[in-house]
Amino acid sequence: LYPKTTVKTASKKHRASKSMMLFSGGVDSLATYIRHQNEQPVLVCIHGADIGYYNATDWQVALKTAQSFANFTGCKLKPVRSNFKHMLSFVMLSSFREKIHGDWWTKVMYGFAMLGLCAPLTFVEGTEDLYIASSYSADFLIPCASHPLLDSKIKWGKVAVSLDGLELNREEKLMLIGDYSNRHAVDVFIRSCFDKASDGANCSHCEKCSRTIVGLELAGYNPEKFGFKVNSETFRTIKEKLENREWYFKESACYFWKNLRTYSSKNMNLPHKEASVLINWLTDADIEDSRTSVKLQEIVSDLVLPVLNELPVTQSKVACQLVTKVARLFSIAV
Ligand SMILES: [Zn+2]
Repeated sequence: LYPKTTVKTASKKHRASKSMMLFSGGVDSLATYIRHQNEQPVLVCIHGADIGYYNATDWQVALKTAQSFANFTGCKLKPVRSNFKHMLSFVMLSSFREKIHGDWWTKVMYGFAMLGLCAPLTFVEGTEDLYIASSYSADFLIPCASHPLLDSKIKWGKVAVSLDGLELNREEKLMLIGDYSNRHAVDVFIRSCFDKASDGANCSHCEKCSRTIVGLELAGYNPEKFGFKVNSETFRTIKEKLENREWYFKESACYFWKNLRTYSSKNMNLPHKEASVLINWLTDADIEDSRTSVKLQEIVSDLVLPVLNELPVTQSKVACQLVTKVARLFSIAV
């Protein structure tokens, strides 16, 4: 994208904070907040991105969590609601799947779109630095809609965009969050779950929740202090699901599991001693062999569920849960 005409714009007024960041409350954005906490960034939460535009129930839960974090930090929280995902037909756009090696939202849209939603606010707040947290570290940069070659080129008015946290892997970010929690004696809620049945909190069962639970254990922090439910069955179940290849996860998640493996060693001291069997197994695990490669799962995850997401929230939830149950009958974990 190249601008045809450039204009000079001034911010409406200058406030104490000249920083702003996209804040979902997940591992990446929490780490970005911690790295820039001295700037007291304005936290922007988008309703209509990972939580659907019509899903007011889950949004209220997520917003409450984000607001309590903002209250603790003294940062301003700005919720933005947008139907931007409804303006496109992801079903039609799925015809580009082969060309862009994935779905439109992940490969083309989310970075530009969410940064664009911040633009009016940056004028009002007098923002000069806008951060979007990187999902990946510099050693695993896959082509996607948020990338150092793209984000750093996005500019308007006095605003410069930075893709933040490239030098940290996900485990290092968890260590940063754990350390922040300890130093400030506060339980930090990590919102990592996109499971439709999670009601805006963490389900503590899905692949992503399980991966984050394992990451926190390896970092020496109790996952229960970060918004996850852990019981005596948790770690045995995670090991079984990996061993039985019950989870479908993409190349990026595979990379994250491999990264966790580099932090694991036999007979580590862990917050939950029940986690030892899983961690001992993980030390030598063949991660590539621990995920199912059934293509049908990709179709259900990337095509069927996005269509159902576009339904109003009640029907969407019921339909997603139904599809998940039917998929499981055919050993398809979604
Ligand atoms: Zn989950």
